[in-house]
Amino acid sequence: MSDATHPDFEQAPEGLRWTGALRDLFVALSAETYTVRGAWVGRVLPCGAWVQMRIRPEDFRHEMRICRREAPADDAARAKWDQECATFLQHAQHRPHFGWHQEDGEVEARGGIARLYLELFPTEVAPGKVTCTDCPAVIDFDPVSHQTRCTPCARRADLEEIKAKIGHRVERENTAREAYGGHA
Ligand SMILES: [Zn+2]
Repeated sequence: MSDATHPDFEQAPEGLRWTGALRDLFVALSAETYTVRGAWVGRVLPCGAWVQMRIRPEDFRHEMRICRREAPADDAARAKWDQECATFLQHAQHRPHFGWHQEDGEVEARGGIARLYLELFPTEVAPGKVTCTDCPAVIDFDPVSHQTRCTPCARRADLEEIKAKIGHRVERENTAREAYGGHA
């Protein structure tokens, strides 16, 4: 990549250009999303890529877009685009423990290209999906019950809890019997 800045960067209004550290960009954009009621906010980088973010109105998750005004024209350009997106993603920690899930497909419109990402809550492996705490099964994240185990593991855990309770009761009864036993 040459050191020359991209024309899209040079033509962008001063306030929309980003020359700072990448990790600061995502924190700055995230903070900005709270001030614009669901609208997209973004910055263009010297390489010509746009990074945009918004809060999705339907579920208040952050959504991120990495875009270029020109879609990759050949395999080499596509490989470069993939690498670029991967680099952004490495730095895209917008709040601690939150991650990103790449949405299916890419948007290619008006000659440009955009890759979409949806925010992942700290325990999610995909939007609305978490891994069972006791096995590798992926289960639906239920914001009401906060169930963290798959059905078989949840049954097993319930059963063990019941066994433990019964065990305690038997132990208590045995202790009581022994205590009175001596005076019987
Ligand atoms: Zn499980």
